[in-house]
Amino acid sequence: MTGPATPDPLVLRAPRLLDGTGTPAVTDAALLMEGGRIGYAGPAAGLPEAAGRLPSLEFPGATLLPGLVDAHVHLVASGDPDLAAGLPKTEAERMLAAVVNARRNLDRGVTLVRDLGAPGAEAVLAGRAVEEGALAGPRVVAAGPAVTMTGGHIPYLGRVTDGVDAMRAAVRANLALGARCIKVVATGGVLTPGVDPRKPAYTQAELDALVDEAHRLGLTVAAHAIGEGGVAAALRAGVDSIEHGMFLDEAAIELFLATGARLSATFSAPYGILSGPGVPGWVKDRARPAAEAQARSFQAAVQAGVPVVAGTDAGTPDNHHGGVAREVGFMVEAGLDVLQGVQAATAEGAELLGVDDRGVLRRSAAADVLVAGGDVAADVAALQRVVAVFQGGRQVV
Ligand SMILES: [Zn+2]
Repeated sequence: MTGPATPDPLVLRAPRLLDGTGTPAVTDAALLMEGGRIGYAGPAAGLPEAAGRLPSLEFPGATLLPGLVDAHVHLVASGDPDLAAGLPKTEAERMLAAVVNARRNLDRGVTLVRDLGAPGAEAVLAGRAVEEGALAGPRVVAAGPAVTMTGGHIPYLGRVTDGVDAMRAAVRANLALGARCIKVVATGGVLTPGVDPRKPAYTQAELDALVDEAHRLGLTVAAHAIGEGGVAAALRAGVDSIEHGMFLDEAAIELFLATGARLSATFSAPYGILSGPGVPGWVKDRARPAAEAQARSFQAAVQAGVPVVAGTDAGTPDNHHGGVAREVGFMVEAGLDVLQGVQAATAEGAELLGVDDRGVLRRSAAADVLVAGGDVAADVAALQRVVAVFQGGRQVV
């Protein structure tokens, strides 16, 4: 990749630093990056003495944070008002969309994403190119095609699969494609006509087989689930995250707590559908009750102590890539503490994705750093003001 070389080692200084773990901001902060890793992150007074002679960059008024993590994106989709109709028809066009959307994420300070559904290996390949340094974008943990039943939601982003044995075969096929996690569609969805978002999709036996096979092979599982019945079935099967979870009852929340699964609420998805010009009326009508239930469900989950991550479902109608900072704003509006919101979009997200050396600003973690313009802990909107982004210690924005 091109661009001016970033000095290495390099010290960043700012009035505040949030390390991503949910602990309060460090003031008068400094961060030392060396060889792509963090050498020090904390109060400037604690910097090793030799660091005083190193090149440094000063960011007045800003907050240093870990690069953001979006736990739910679709790199092949670009926010067209009609997801199915707007999806590029050829593999080449979809690959190009993934490249463009990867860049958009990085420009907004997103340095790690989980891609939860594409027709083929597009997101896997984009992630590989990023790792090789050939493509500017976030690290990608990709699911490959979502596993969905005949007559189910998003077949055009998925692998249509029915039956217990076929679930195991679908997991293996995605593994062969390079997937590092599995996406299963456990209920209907808002965007697919004729599929009720509140109705469960798979049988318990099918979900059990899929999760068992995925975990056996070292892959985590994300379940698209809107209605409480499908949420409960997915949690009983042992999924690692519930995507959307708009209708949660007490039984579902108990299951979250019992299994340790995380909730990825994706407020950005119904927001985009309801506010987006050009989104078909029938889609808006179906999204409305789900959006109304969502804030209540989210609050109940957070109050009960369910761990949450920030996922946008970017690519769905009027929901553009790079919006995870705005998603944190939606979560805070729904009652989450700002520090917890930042944690959801950094450390919690990275942990869910199985990437333990990112999402935190601590010694020896990857030097993925967002410099946000303002005091993020006091004003969550500041998270959307990108001043600079460093990836592996290199300035990319
Ligand atoms: Zn999605």
